[in-house]
Amino acid sequence: MNRLDGKTAFITGGARGQGRAIAEKFAREGANIIVCDIDGPIEHIHYPLATAADLKETEASVERLGRGVVAEIADVRDQEQIDRVVAAGLDKFGHIDVVVANAGVLDNKPFWEMTDSEWKVVTDICLNGVWRTVKAVAPHMMERMRGSVILTSSTNGQEGDAGNMSYVAAKHGVIGVMKSAALALGQYNIRVNALLPGPVDTIINDNPGTRDRITGKAGATREDYLAACRNWHVLRGRSALAPEAVADGAIWLASDESRHVTGLEMLIDAGHRLLPGLNF
Ligand code: NAD
Repeated sequence: MNRLDGKTAFITGGARGQGRAIAEKFAREGANIIVCDIDGPIEHIHYPLATAADLKETEASVERLGRGVVAEIADVRDQEQIDRVVAAGLDKFGHIDVVVANAGVLDNKPFWEMTDSEWKVVTDICLNGVWRTVKAVAPHMMERMRGSVILTSSTNGQEGDAGNMSYVAAKHGVIGVMKSAALALGQYNIRVNALLPGPVDTIINDNPGTRDRITGKAGATREDYLAACRNWHVLRGRSALAPEAVADGAIWLASDESRHVTGLEMLIDAGHRLLPGLNF
């Protein structure tokens, strides 16, 4: 299948996890890939962020699939760094058809203990970083009168969560960015949609605090986490989703198959939201 033949896609936070799965699936469907991520830790984030080596792996993987790739270290907290990646991608491929604003971080400190700078780091990446990413590609897409913009929110973009208020606030904010950008860019034939994954088995959930809170068990392991996730899904046997499950949704939003779709909150959550009273 070559649903993205001839297209170029820009993915932030693509060194690993869902971002890498999206880069690989898009490449398999024919797209050239522009990808960025950070190298190493960020203050206040208590699990390992991606490294330059992770980004190299994504780059190598896209190359193995026979597609062109631009892979650069860039922090979505800095507009100039994003603009530099977009310029490098345009230099190599001449156009960007799809953008996936995927980079995100999580901190689950109780909100009454959170400092100003702890709050700001999550919202600056998860919300402001999404705005900066759209801003970086919008003029190019407007000029071409085409484009598909995909913003990664979360089921936490629709639901509260007792534990990660900064993340929940940012992911709700992403829905606002998505709706407003869809309205602003529709006249340029640019579609803007949001991905709302449920729990996905990636390193973001290696945050020890998240594991313990979700499983109710101190020192919870990945296995404990996956077992807990099984109770949250309507679809039989589903644990935390694989990153590829989210990439499957992203492909549809990126491809012309969704050409009449804009402003969609695409839940990929195995029915998680249908279960009442979940509060973890
Ligand atoms: P992940 O931690 O593997 O991926 C996030 C990526 O973003 C990492 O590679 C990280 O280094 C990168 N990143 C973080 N800060 C950055 C910055 N300032 N600039 C550039 N890149 C940065 O986790 P994931 O599950 O693959 O997360 C992808 C997206 O999906 C995130 O937006 C996350 O909030 C969202 N999400 C995750 C889940 C889940 O349960 N895993 C559920 C819903 C939504």
